[in-house]
Amino acid sequence: MAIRYISTRGQAPALNFEEVLLAGLASDGGLYVPEQLPTFSEAKIRSFRSLSYPELAFQILEPFVEGSVSADDLKAIIDDTYAQFRHPAVAPLIQLDDNQWVLELFHGPTLAFKDFALQLLGRLLDHVLQRRQQKVVIMGATSGDTGSAAIEGCKRCSNIDIFILYPNGRVSDVQRRQMTTVQGETIHNLAIEGDFDDCQAMVKASFVAEPFLPDGRQLAAVNSINWARIMAQIVYYFYAALLLGAPDRAINFSVPTGNFGDIFAGYLARCMGLPIDQLVIATNKNDVLHRILTSGEYARQQLEKSLSPSMDITVSSNFERLMFDLYDRDAAAIDHLMRDFTAGAIQLSEGAMKQARSLFSSHCVSDDDTAAEIAEVWSRCGYLLDPHSAIGTRAAKACRREASQPMVTLATAHPAKFPEAVLRSGVGTQPELPPHLADLFDREERFVVLPNDLARVQEHMASRLKA
Ligand SMILES: *Cc1c(COP(=O)(O)O)cnc(C)c1O
Repeated sequence: MAIRYISTRGQAPALNFEEVLLAGLASDGGLYVPEQLPTFSEAKIRSFRSLSYPELAFQILEPFVEGSVSADDLKAIIDDTYAQFRHPAVAPLIQLDDNQWVLELFHGPTLAFKDFALQLLGRLLDHVLQRRQQKVVIMGATSGDTGSAAIEGCKRCSNIDIFILYPNGRVSDVQRRQMTTVQGETIHNLAIEGDFDDCQAMVKASFVAEPFLPDGRQLAAVNSINWARIMAQIVYYFYAALLLGAPDRAINFSVPTGNFGDIFAGYLARCMGLPIDQLVIATNKNDVLHRILTSGEYARQQLEKSLSPSMDITVSSNFERLMFDLYDRDAAAIDHLMRDFTAGAIQLSEGAMKQARSLFSSHCVSDDDTAAEIAEVWSRCGYLLDPHSAIGTRAAKACRREASQPMVTLATAHPAKFPEAVLRSGVGTQPELPPHLADLFDREERFVVLPNDLARVQEHMASRLKA
């Protein structure tokens, strides 16, 4: 039976996989989740042990796409997706000490874990669009990693034009060049004279505004609320746990997180039968998630720039997906809470918080401690962490309950992407970009600078689309 996807706010129609892939956000403002999760028995999970990463991905993802993508097509798409990764293991597991491990998720084209989902998402979208004889326009805002991962994921998709808005002069040189040096008729980089919030506001407004694209072309979203991204991230939890002895042994994970997308995938892996004991939410000083876990209050705070910019957020969008389960899938309750949240802070119920705390631990790591952690792991193991991953290993140490169980930290980015943090740690070495990006600073850049003006941006987009 094909899985149906339902909205956390209960007012939008249920969709199949193909529809949810194209929809992004639900029409009632909610997020789509599977009506029912596939589950795997212990014996079934044991049978996954000898599978390669793409083979495992096929086993885990097939139930989610059934009815929309055939098994053969899915296999081909997955093989092509993970062939883009530059390590034969795709997600190699590295040992730091007796029972601490790092799962390297940065061997994709843009050196951050977002490639796992966006390489797959681009291919799945293009496949579905090809069959429907349809073209879409992806519009997204980025403060760094998402833009380049989305562009890399869509650059060979003939049915997708992609427009990425970023704040002019406010993304790092590496991050900007990873977007602007990708050449292609369908790739459009828009440097907006404003900040990230201005970019995001224009994207949001465009999704609800009157159609402005020629030929009735529709907009599609690739931000982390797209279900397909979450789905792709479930796989590596299984992959790491199997290498460490699951399902015959419980495994723990520590996840540097901002939007709650990555760690929510870990929660789903656990719901699907993977024996995960602890899931550690690791945050930087933008600690909205840590504050929820400790106080039960979900409240925005002023954004603060940190050494781990990809986790600098004030609202954790995917947390709504967990809330839906914490409230026993009572969509009316979530609708009510999220309406209140647009106006201000909300307080989660005792019952919801009790459950949340039984599922997750959390820890907030300052910039000083992030730098200290990079230095400490470097001096103890000769291993260089990026600042996001360092938040993960630091939180893992602070939160772990059972030293005899393996603790796996997800390493979400390559250290060469964040030289500033490495410099601040004082390790005295600078990580180099891997060979495929070694000439990044010699490549030609392509972007246009536009004012912070919605009408001008939309005009530009319409004019750039070929018939
Ligand atoms: C996006 C990102 C994160 C946070 O991921 P979430 O899905 O928001 O939890 C962490 N680290 C890096 C390097 C990222 O690019």
